[in-house]
Amino acid sequence: MGRTLYTEESRAINQEFKADINQLSAVFEREVLLNLEILNALKDAVAVLPEMTSQRFALLTRRILERSPAIQAFAWAPLVLNDDVPAFTLRQRDEFVNFVIMEVSGSGLRQAQERPWYVPVQYIEPLSENRSALGFDLASETLRLAALLAARDSGNIAATAGIRLVQEPDNQKGFLVFAPLYREPADIRGLSDGVQHYGFINGVFRVGELVDQAIGEELHEDILFEVYDRSGSDNVLLFSTENLLDKNWHSEGRYESPVFDIAGRQWVVGAVPSISFYQSRRGVFPFFVSSVGIVLSGLVFGYVLLSDRRNAELRDAKAKLEKISLTDSLTGLANRRQFDAYLEREYRRAVRQGTALTLVMLDIDQFKEYNDYYGHPTGDACLKQVADALAKVVHRPADLPARYGGEEFALVLPDTADGTEVAESCRQAIEALRIQHEASTVADVVTISVGIAVLTPQTWHQNVTDLLHRADEALYEAKESGRNQVCRA
Ligand code: GH3
Ligand code: MG
Ligand code: MG
Repeated sequence: MGRTLYTEESRAINQEFKADINQLSAVFEREVLLNLEILNALKDAVAVLPEMTSQRFALLTRRILERSPAIQAFAWAPLVLNDDVPAFTLRQRDEFVNFVIMEVSGSGLRQAQERPWYVPVQYIEPLSENRSALGFDLASETLRLAALLAARDSGNIAATAGIRLVQEPDNQKGFLVFAPLYREPADIRGLSDGVQHYGFINGVFRVGELVDQAIGEELHEDILFEVYDRSGSDNVLLFSTENLLDKNWHSEGRYESPVFDIAGRQWVVGAVPSISFYQSRRGVFPFFVSSVGIVLSGLVFGYVLLSDRRNAELRDAKAKLEKISLTDSLTGLANRRQFDAYLEREYRRAVRQGTALTLVMLDIDQFKEYNDYYGHPTGDACLKQVADALAKVVHRPADLPARYGGEEFALVLPDTADGTEVAESCRQAIEALRIQHEASTVADVVTISVGIAVLTPQTWHQNVTDLLHRADEALYEAKESGRNQVCRA
């Protein structure tokens, strides 16, 4: 349960993260588009100028640049045909000594090779930070050329892919946006109409600044935020906060916003939450549930163990009690209780199975006199001796010797049709003990009289009480006939 809650919580946090990123992405997109709108407005202003001069350009752009930190520069880049290069260069040198049209060469710049036409940066603002870009032929570099042509042919603004800026030596990625200008209405297109199309207003934007301006305050350090240009087969990382933050990222939580269009380029926002992003949003409930579960399980387990041990003790006690309740404490033989139950059970078995059952009753002769003569403790000792002797005589597992009461004993002999032999063995065994009995008129030692009753198929109609009665009668007969003898009912 704790785990399920934990998983649910993770899902909710992921969901919340995606919603946050989608929102950030939308805000960022709007910010970029707003900045591009500035370029459109500037283009419309330039279009009404009779001629571009450095003062006019500075006047138009300076205030905007002051208010827009994400715009690195604005540039004016006219279309210059090869034939016009000398005149153009000369005019530029009035203002910028050593002005020359340049192109990229390796990692630096050099004077441009001869080409039919150029799009050199004529004016750029702010001039001080961007002076190195002055004279750079934007058409000499493939990424810029592609955007130039797209803008010229569509009449709309067009952005370059992410590029390293000429005027920025470090790896800061930016992008350029070109707005085309025409002398006549914009429906006249194509390079062959180069007279009509005369140049570009060009904005240089820094992605990092745009991110910062749009969502800088909301980008806390628990989110790795990235911007990609995914136009066509390109996949260019424009911006990432990773370099700034040293964190453990939860890469399975990575999420990318839907693609959005920036001046003809497809951009995507990607984001990865940090481990602590999750930790700070987790509650204690799943852990609480797990802990309570573990504690409860422990308690239940302990309780089961404890009650199991108590049960074992109870079982032992019960077994002891059972033994006590079934045996005679003086002689160790089965007591009257066990005898009654056993006789009843064996009686029913005999009737059911059609077997015989013998009941033998034994009584010590003139034991009252023995007690009177020798005292009660000696009488007890005598009883014990007699009991031990009787127990030795019976040897079938099913035979049960019991103390019937006082100085009377009984034997239950299942599956026995004639108990005379066993009864006689008992009588002889007691006589053989040779326990002195001075007060006896029968013999000078302790003797017993024995009565036998047998249950046979002919006597099945009788019940246990009848059987006991008959055995008792036989015993009485043995007493009457002079004691120390066996009588059969
Ligand atoms: P009989 O030959 O007719 O059986 O005579 P008897 O004296 O043996 O019979 P009676 O029933 O008159 O006496 C039984 C005596 O057994 C009475 C009692 O003093 C004695 N007795 C019964 N139970 C115990 C016992 O647990 N311990 C002792 N020491 N004596 C007992
Ligand atoms: Mg008696
Ligand atoms: Mg007796």
